Amino acid sequence: MIMNGKKGVILGVANNKSIAYGIAKACAAQGAKIAFTYLNDSLKKRVEPIAAEFDSEDLVYPCDVSNPDEIKALKVSLEKDLGQIDFIVHSIAFAPKEGLSGRFYDITKSAFDVAMDVSVYSLIEVTRELKPLMSENSSILTLTYYGGAKYIPNYNLMGIAKAALEMTTKYLAEDLGKDGIRVNAISAGPIKTLAAAGISDFRFMLKWNEAHSPLKKNVTTDEVGNSGMYLLSDLSSAVTGEIHYVDCGFNVMGMPAVEFNEE
Ligand code: NAD
Repeated sequence: MIMNGKKGVILGVANNKSIAYGIAKACAAQGAKIAFTYLNDSLKKRVEPIAAEFDSEDLVYPCDVSNPDEIKALKVSLEKDLGQIDFIVHSIAFAPKEGLSGRFYDITKSAFDVAMDVSVYSLIEVTRELKPLMSENSSILTLTYYGGAKYIPNYNLMGIAKAALEMTTKYLAEDLGKDGIRVNAISAGPIKTLAAAGISDFRFMLKWNEAHSPLKKNVTTDEVGNSGMYLLSDLSSAVTGEIHYVDCGFNVMGMPAVEFNEE
């Protein structure tokens, strides 16, 4: 199996609809040992049974990434329980609801700061804290969306956070390449998850993507999971700094193909 002997940590499982869950499933199916984190006590109850599904009931830790002490504590726990790790999945984003609808120029500084801290800076901080545990052939993966590259209605504040996250991926890739660590992002098509529920008119986004992507469907968490597994495994040993679209091809479309009735 492709991930035999690999150990890693996945941050960002909220439930079995989470993209992080799809990635866990694909990695576990290929033999990886996975540690999980949860944001708060109410999510702990959801994450624990998921960890048990992957024989990881002893590898579940709290980690609110806006709290540097919890990231430091995660490092201590992982070192004790796993020793070295070979991969990190950062599948985390948050923006206050007011930043996900309405006029873009109404975004407040406090909402901006929260979104950037949780959705972008956390990738840098988690990487720095866990780096001493990372093997010299390891891989970091984060999750982004097309709204960080092009305008998407209502994505607003998260759009600029994703643009910053994509550049963070590239700068980290250059910095950590000399240590044998690869850093990539998957730009996933829209999927109905807890986080997506915060975006206004999300259902329209799903319909639009399905109608206008070359594959004429929406992507599933299993499909993102399989691509994630590839980027975390040695199959992608020469791939770093990449923003890899897993979106049924939606991003290549400059204009939807329509038939004109020429009269
Ligand atoms: P999700 O709600 O299942 O996952 C988001 C996770 O972020 C949750 O587990 C939540 O607990 C965690 N989180 C939020 N604030 C946190 C904090 N302070 N500390 C630690 N964890 C925190 O939704 P998802 O769609 O699976 O989102 C995962 C990632 O995928 C996000 O980065 C999201 O932007 C990205 N993404 C989602 C879509 C989509 O359409 N669902 C598309 C492209 C990219």
